[in-house]
Amino acid sequence: MKTKIEPELQLVDLPGADKQFPVIELFGPTIQGEGPLAGARSHFIRFGGCAYRCHWCDSMHAVDPKEIKKNALMLYPSQIYLVLQKLKPMAQYCTLTGGDPVMWDLQGLMEVHNWHINQDSDCISGFAVETQGAIYREWLRALSVVILTVSPKPPSSGEKPDFNVISEYAKDCAYGHNLNLKVVVFNDEDYDFARMVHKKYPSVPFYLSVGTSTPPVTAEDITKLEVLDRYKWLVEKTLADRIMKDARVLPQLHYLIWGNELGR
Ligand code: SF4
Repeated sequence: MKTKIEPELQLVDLPGADKQFPVIELFGPTIQGEGPLAGARSHFIRFGGCAYRCHWCDSMHAVDPKEIKKNALMLYPSQIYLVLQKLKPMAQYCTLTGGDPVMWDLQGLMEVHNWHINQDSDCISGFAVETQGAIYREWLRALSVVILTVSPKPPSSGEKPDFNVISEYAKDCAYGHNLNLKVVVFNDEDYDFARMVHKKYPSVPFYLSVGTSTPPVTAEDITKLEVLDRYKWLVEKTLADRIMKDARVLPQLHYLIWGNELGR
């Protein structure tokens, strides 16, 4: 379900209401297709802006500045939360995605969430954050961030992750955050990269995800059977690999159901 965002909504008396952020999509409930919450009900907020330009990005409408200008609504945290609360039935989590939500200082959104928790509102329990790990920000340590997924991009993306920043994230495990690492795999080179990442941070829960899209993509471009074939390839490769004994391998469940349909 997609709810129309109404720009006139504004609650300036709530904390954290002094900065606006580019929201591309705000939808749900749907299911989370990847990572530790795979299969869980979640809302999604897609923020505009990303430091990367991955070759196979399926969210260019939230990456390309021209598209962001066209698609984004600039909203205060309290407005974002108000729209979120209109999405029924309420899910346990709301996933902050992009683009890269960590481009922005979302401390205000965390504060608005805390305000609603204290008011005993009908609201989410917390946020799941998805980032590629190009930037680190303090607000990620907020208690409202219940799951933090960092997805260093593999060679097929054409990008080069900064492991100094990824290591900043890895330190967060010490703060008791539910950090996990996820690598999307399209080919053997990507798999070797994933192995290297898992060996570097062996104590961080590790997920492998089957790569599915190379834009322009429609739900019909890659059949579901092709996705399952790729999944089989990745599962078999992982099962034969001692290093990956504690890695979890998943297809992108939402892709199997809806392809790249927006708002899903
Ligand atoms: S990091 Fe994610 S959102 Fe950014 S360009 Fe790469 S795939 Fe797209």
